[in-house]
Amino acid sequence: MEKSPAICYQVTGMPLCGVDLEGDVSFEELGIEEEVRFAFPHPLHYRLHLSPMGEDVLVRGSLSATVETVCDRCAENFELKLETDEVCHTYKNVYGQLLDLTDDIREDILLTFPQVSLCSEDCLGLCVICGHNLNQGPCGCRQDMLAEADGKDEASPWDKLDNLKLS
Ligand SMILES: [Zn+2]
Ligand SMILES: [Zn+2]
Repeated sequence: MEKSPAICYQVTGMPLCGVDLEGDVSFEELGIEEEVRFAFPHPLHYRLHLSPMGEDVLVRGSLSATVETVCDRCAENFELKLETDEVCHTYKNVYGQLLDLTDDIREDILLTFPQVSLCSEDCLGLCVICGHNLNQGPCGCRQDMLAEADGKDEASPWDKLDNLKLS
């Protein structure tokens, strides 16, 4: 027995108003493997509407999933919600066939993965001197130590900012 596709629909006698296809599918079933930056403790939820167009079928809908990732600034794990409501595919001459949506849904959700993961827009990250997570409060390292650590002897960026305000 061949394993049936993770997300599919047998296109026979489809009503003119189309059909709704809603459910959950694991990332494993989608063929997306966990890696260093992302883990998938929850399934992907899909809400799709299939409309007949002659011998073709138009599929539109939305996807959502909560994945586990690592903040690129502070290295903390956090849950990230991925969403898209831009699923839109046309399948030609599929009447009477088993329509396999798995590959396209996989592509659609992969497109929602961020290039940069941040636990929050204003994550403060880690202190470059002691590695303390600055979201949990200041660490006591001083700004001038920061400048030394950089091997530079410049005025701090705050001084420049003050000059800007004055002029
Ligand atoms: Zn963070
Ligand atoms: Zn520090």
